[in-house]
Amino acid sequence: LSGKFSDIFDRLRRRGALSESDVNDALREIRLALLDADVALPVVKDFVAKVKEQAVGAEVLRSVSPGQMVVKIVNDALIEALGGAPSPLNLFAPAPIPFLMVGLQGSGKTTTSAKIALRLKTRERKKVLLASLDTQRPAAQLQLEQLAQKAEVVSLPIIPGQTPLQIAQRAMETARREVYDVVILDTAGRLSIDLALMEEVKAIRAAVNPVETLLVVDAMTGQDAVTTATAFNEAVQITGIVMTRLDGDARGGAALSMRSVTGAPVKLAGMGEKLDALDEFNPERIAGRILGMGDIVGLVERAAANIDQVEAEKLAKKMAKGKFDLDDYASQLKQISKMGSLSGILGMLPGVGKIKQQIESANLDTTVFKKHVAIISSMTPAERRAPDILKASRKKRIAAGSGTTVQEVNKLLKQFDDMSTMMKRMNKMGGAEAMMRQVQ
Ligand code: GDP
Ligand code: MG
Repeated sequence: LSGKFSDIFDRLRRRGALSESDVNDALREIRLALLDADVALPVVKDFVAKVKEQAVGAEVLRSVSPGQMVVKIVNDALIEALGGAPSPLNLFAPAPIPFLMVGLQGSGKTTTSAKIALRLKTRERKKVLLASLDTQRPAAQLQLEQLAQKAEVVSLPIIPGQTPLQIAQRAMETARREVYDVVILDTAGRLSIDLALMEEVKAIRAAVNPVETLLVVDAMTGQDAVTTATAFNEAVQITGIVMTRLDGDARGGAALSMRSVTGAPVKLAGMGEKLDALDEFNPERIAGRILGMGDIVGLVERAAANIDQVEAEKLAKKMAKGKFDLDDYASQLKQISKMGSLSGILGMLPGVGKIKQQIESANLDTTVFKKHVAIISSMTPAERRAPDILKASRKKRIAAGSGTTVQEVNKLLKQFDDMSTMMKRMNKMGGAEAMMRQVQ
């Protein structure tokens, strides 16, 4: 189905498709931006190749240049590659839930352990036990104890002479006995990946079977991020990544590298030395930071929003005039996924608050929308303009054509009828008319 309405908008929207040379030109600059942001070279190559496939042939929005359009496509692909939405810590397991912190020395494991403890205590009301398994440096266990005190979280009493594995087991026993919700096990790091370190974390992992195994990585880590992440992932199958020092200058390209090679989501972002300086990792924000082209992305997004606005205003005008048929209804249903909701359109009509509420509560379930579009597309143009002519035999034909039932066709007609009635009432009130003059 492409009613006259959506045709108009398709024409309005299309400025031509992106050619291969448009895309190549833009991607050259983007490749440099990604490398500059410390995304590892093989990851850049892979990512750029994927984006190219997506971008060639894509439509360019009106008032946007091909290069700008590519930037927007890259930005969206980057958000997707970074996981799309924030990924929370997994707390869906029987208590005590073990978290294992791994990473190189100085990456921020101990600080992050205390930060996570504080976060779980204050936000999730969890009873958390911190335990340092770092027997490498004499001061390491004391460091965690001090941070725990600051966070007002309990840390496992230090018993000199125990091995990391013994400490881990004692922590779990204590947690079971004293009914803790979460146990955070902070391990020792090394300056670089070595066999002894990997054997140690492997043994601990096997002993406690952690629900989260979090790799802590400094955002300043450049090309090495891939090696580090791969090594730890092979040894202990990480479930998430924490990037520290995102309060610094680093653009955070390592996030993309590590996510691509491990498939594990980046869950948290360290934003400073203080214990409350821990944010949920936000793919959208980091994508902007990695690409460093926020202005262009914003511009394209505004252009897209304007086009939606034009379409919405035209629909609103038809609604106000009471000349709203099933074609319009179908094109509106398709629009709704982009607009947010019908109330987005109605939001443009001041003084119709009550009716807006009624329409919102008129059971406009999004899962039904696709079905409705299918039903309408099985109607003839005459039927769409004048649904009154729909009698039993026509309804049967439409149901068969759209893979639905006559009941569903009736439901759609009822809904459309309700909407038309509301619109007519809205017109009588005059509020919409008055408003439409403003829109015009
Ligand atoms: P570990 O060796 O992996 O346990 O690392 P630590 O937790 O001891 O951290 C090493 C240093 O990095 C400490 O001085 C921390 O205060 C600092 N640090 C940790 N996370 C962050 C962060 O997100 N931002 C900043 N600016 N510093 C951090
Ligand atoms: Mg440490």
